[in-house]
Amino acid sequence: MGPSSELDLVVHAERAVLPGGTRAVALGVRDGRIAAVVGLDRRGDLPPARQVLELGDDEVLLPGLVDTHVHVNEPGRTAWEGFDTATRAAALGGVTTVIDMPLNSVPATTTVDALRVKRDAARGAVHVDVGFWGGVVPGNTGELAGLVAGGVFGAKCFTAPSGVDEFEHVSPAQLREGLAELARLGSRLLVHAEDPAVLDEAAEQVARSLAQGADPRSFALFLASRPAAAEDSAVADVVAAARELRGTGPRGAAVHVVHLASASALPLVAAARAEGLPVTAETCPHYLTLDAAAVPDGATQFKCCPPVREAEVADALWAALEAGVLDSVVSDHSPCTPDLKLPGAGDFLAAWGGIASVQLGLPVVWTAARRRGVGLERVVDWMAARPAARVGLAGRKGSLVVGADADLAVLAPEEELLVEPGMLAFKNKVTPYAGQRLRGAVRSTWLRGRRVAPSGSEHPGGRLLHALHQDDPA
Ligand SMILES: [Zn+2]
Repeated sequence: MGPSSELDLVVHAERAVLPGGTRAVALGVRDGRIAAVVGLDRRGDLPPARQVLELGDDEVLLPGLVDTHVHVNEPGRTAWEGFDTATRAAALGGVTTVIDMPLNSVPATTTVDALRVKRDAARGAVHVDVGFWGGVVPGNTGELAGLVAGGVFGAKCFTAPSGVDEFEHVSPAQLREGLAELARLGSRLLVHAEDPAVLDEAAEQVARSLAQGADPRSFALFLASRPAAAEDSAVADVVAAARELRGTGPRGAAVHVVHLASASALPLVAAARAEGLPVTAETCPHYLTLDAAAVPDGATQFKCCPPVREAEVADALWAALEAGVLDSVVSDHSPCTPDLKLPGAGDFLAAWGGIASVQLGLPVVWTAARRRGVGLERVVDWMAARPAARVGLAGRKGSLVVGADADLAVLAPEEELLVEPGMLAFKNKVTPYAGQRLRGAVRSTWLRGRRVAPSGSEHPGGRLLHALHQDDPA
């Protein structure tokens, strides 16, 4: 097929967020990929297209977002979330690529067999493209080669209890064992970094406070149970492990710290990067936009681990994103059934920790960015291009470039959006953003040139992504 053959779709946009900035373009799509990007004034140079999408004056064309931190929970905890609902929600939020976390599904994705079970559950059920993380747990080092060969994008471990019994946390020695094996395989380790010794110490203090009459509905008490010092200590050990194993494997010992929420851990990450270690870190919309001081007592929809911290911490996280110390913003969409949030008791210590937001990440982050004078280009970089690059999908996902999959989101950045549970497509509608007035409405989302939201085809056309080679067909 030559360059002059008919296009499937052409998009005319006065504003499109490209890698080099925002420009007026005509973007041509053929066979699910971006076939051409030309200046809008040169739209006549493109071959004829079967379908033309004219963006409105208030709309901006973005690459589909890449959310590398989503807990789909199916199979096993499908009442919490599932592939159909999670990926419908993703599509409505402008997210076209999701990488699924290895827990809280049952089985957890810690064996080759479990990965097969996961893929079978997802096949034919996903509305956006979905890839998988494996898991590193005590004793499963022998499974990692098979998981990587099976297409996982890397594997995640916890340094402290994960919250579910079937996904045990690792010791520092076990973390190094997993990291060495993943480095040898040319893959990467993700780390939920909190030091269990620091958490235990904090828990003892909290227990003493409770004995003296402290209220378990108090967010401040929960915050005291998960201090930033726990993150700092664990991040320091992760950096040490990357340094000790720096000669291992084709790319060194690549480690990625998930959902960083400590201002004092940022210099550790910055120093590691300055030293040339392959250490990266992400944060999440809730850490950037919610304020511990404003969380009402008993409002357990705000509970996640590590916790939402003070406004100064959010300021530091924004600065770290702008400085490139943090590379991405991903949702950590981690829902549960509403009863597990203990809405009646409002007990922060006993409620399930996890914030559901895969559909809302873009408007939540953009609203705050806009207020801070941060441009939409930066937001798109953090939520699309950089997470894609980190998992080896640069050139294919997360950027409007020729040859990439034609994954597109049409955003009306100034449109007001009132978050109401009824608009949410994820299975359980509990979210701390309910009632918020945000800016930025996703008008439509396109996966490989095909409209998937809203009111796209009902046939789930997402693919299962393989980190190394051919994807599974839809
Ligand atoms: Zn998570």
